[in-house]
Amino acid sequence: MPPPNNNEADSSETVFGEIVRGTISADVVYQDELVTAFRDIQPRAPVHILIVPNKTIRTMDDVKQEDEATLGRMLRIAADIARNEGLGKNGYRLIINCKEHGGQEVYHLHMHIVGGTRLGRMVAQ
Ligand code: 5GP
Repeated sequence: MPPPNNNEADSSETVFGEIVRGTISADVVYQDELVTAFRDIQPRAPVHILIVPNKTIRTMDDVKQEDEATLGRMLRIAADIARNEGLGKNGYRLIINCKEHGGQEVYHLHMHIVGGTRLGRMVAQ
């Protein structure tokens, strides 16, 4: 895996930025120059992986045109990871929570890959 291209912390860095830079540990399943994927510390399904941009983008509301390649990479790699995790046949769910109403807890953009079981309805009634 090539290393990420951002080796310096920025002022809005969260725990996910530290995982990207390798200063705190995580079970990293994929990393390239744009994105990093690692297992969620508190999995809600048999497979629960987070994929994040290496650069700090706080929320979906902060995505800019210059981030298109990074977001495209997140989606393509998510599909590759899901397939590698054995989720290709039965499927899975990709989730991006945004800000308070979306239930976002960590303010470093991330996409959840969840699967390995039937997940039920998309939004609780
Ligand atoms: P959110 O609610 O912001 O969409 O999701 C944040 C996710 O990050 C949660 O599922 C939570 O379990 C996970 N998480 C929080 N802190 C850590 C950590 O230090 N390491 C890992 N691997 N996952 C974390």
